[in-house]
Amino acid sequence: TLDVAWARRFVTLATETVVEHRVELSELDREIGDGDHGENLARGFTAVAAAVDGSSAETVGGVLKLVATTLMSTVGGAAGPLYGTAFLRAAKVSDAPEIDAEGVHTLLDAGLEGIVARGKANVGDKTMVDAWTPAVAAAQSSAASGASPAEVLRAAADAAQQGAVDTDPLVALKGRASYLGERSVGHRDPGAASSALLLDAAARAAQ
Ligand code: ADP
Ligand code: MG
Ligand code: MG
Repeated sequence: TLDVAWARRFVTLATETVVEHRVELSELDREIGDGDHGENLARGFTAVAAAVDGSSAETVGGVLKLVATTLMSTVGGAAGPLYGTAFLRAAKVSDAPEIDAEGVHTLLDAGLEGIVARGKANVGDKTMVDAWTPAVAAAQSSAASGASPAEVLRAAADAAQQGAVDTDPLVALKGRASYLGERSVGHRDPGAASSALLLDAAARAAQ
């Protein structure tokens, strides 16, 4: 099962990965947006890591809530409120001391619901929803098959990565990239790419 130590490891690994990939994420965003996605997330997660380090949060939900509020106040643009809402919704369903395999699915599903509630994107609009939707589906079937929480997270992360790759041929219909219309084809959505990195950090934190 996953406990508050997992949530704290997730924050550390998520911060490391977005800082490590900040240039790559901003380059993706430069192709079809305004080029700030990597910087936005690196700044946000650096603040998140400091906030979580300095906090006495004792549950997964407590940590995720702090992630949410810190991202909302430090990441501007589209991604801040979207990720903020995802982590806030996930926090609300993770106040138990430990998260089991089905709980991982519930947590990810709540995160996706938050992103959709906030951004109103549909599957195929070339947004982070296209990484989260297959991740939630993979988590559901993995949990139903009796996998461990770590295995459920791994299945979700791998599906998110494939979902991000699968945004390449899509026409963007939401966010800044939608201003490009057909010219957004052939580029990966930066938010889908960062979502895959964050879910990979969550899976590695559970190993
Ligand atoms: P901004 O576009 O304001 O500069 P970012 O570059 O940080 O914000 O984030 C861009 C990402 O946000 C996109 O790649 C996409 O995944 C996501 N995004 C934008 N609009 C939406 C939306 N309506 N629903 C879901 N995701 C969205
Ligand atoms: Mg941007
Ligand atoms: Mg911007």
